[in-house]
Amino acid sequence: DLPKPILHQARIGESISMIYAPFYADSKLHDAILNQPITGVLPDDFNVTKASDDRAPGGTLFIPTLCPGCGWDLEGAKDSLALVCTNCETVWKPKHNELTKISTAHLPSDGGKVLFLPFWRIKADVTDIALESYADLIRVANLPKVAQKGWDNIGFRFWEPAFKVRPRFFLRVGSAVTLNQPTRKLQHGFPKKARLHPVTLPIGEALETLKLTLADIMRPRKLMREKLASIQITARAYILVYLPFVEKHHEFVQPEMNLAINKNQLALAKHL
Ligand SMILES: [Zn+2]
Repeated sequence: DLPKPILHQARIGESISMIYAPFYADSKLHDAILNQPITGVLPDDFNVTKASDDRAPGGTLFIPTLCPGCGWDLEGAKDSLALVCTNCETVWKPKHNELTKISTAHLPSDGGKVLFLPFWRIKADVTDIALESYADLIRVANLPKVAQKGWDNIGFRFWEPAFKVRPRFFLRVGSAVTLNQPTRKLQHGFPKKARLHPVTLPIGEALETLKLTLADIMRPRKLMREKLASIQITARAYILVYLPFVEKHHEFVQPEMNLAINKNQLALAKHL
């Protein structure tokens, strides 16, 4: 066998425990250690060789679509998969020539120069391991935290970007937010009068990455390698959640999660 290209090398954990997890891709994403696929057939966004996009760059525009809820004009960036009604504060996605309402929430921001990035928050059943609560996550990911009372009652959710970034970065962002579980303080609806990054990655593609995220966060790695192939993940429900990122010179920073997204990453993603 020829050596396969390494698609992804995730740097996981804090500086104390740095672990590298190599992956490579053909039609599926493979764990290079196990040499076996860990996803189904990959979404187009993971095709690293594809780099064409004929859409115009950014900018919000009005499109001639009326809100099914109130008849107001829906708004959305040209490349957005989700349309926003600023009148009745709802979010819609086109599906089979109809508009379907997307349940939406956001983490409020204290102000400052903020960009809200959209994420899919996904509830899923996971077989073979206990991963139903935040307390379970602490065990599964071996987080350096002591589970506190009540954490058994906080439901575990997967978080995946609802926007395009490069594959290796996509995984890193999804894992970082999943490990953080920003479920507290969420408010209903989308953030009003705020700068929203368009939804450019559909839920279907986000669902394809759940197992990859789990593979990325599971500890110890040996256990992950033993269990991953047999684990099945079935999505049950999802909502769209906007998280605030503070704009800095070269990056957008989510201070509570210690997560930074380089502006180039978002800009280049237009060509993915
Ligand atoms: Zn409306």
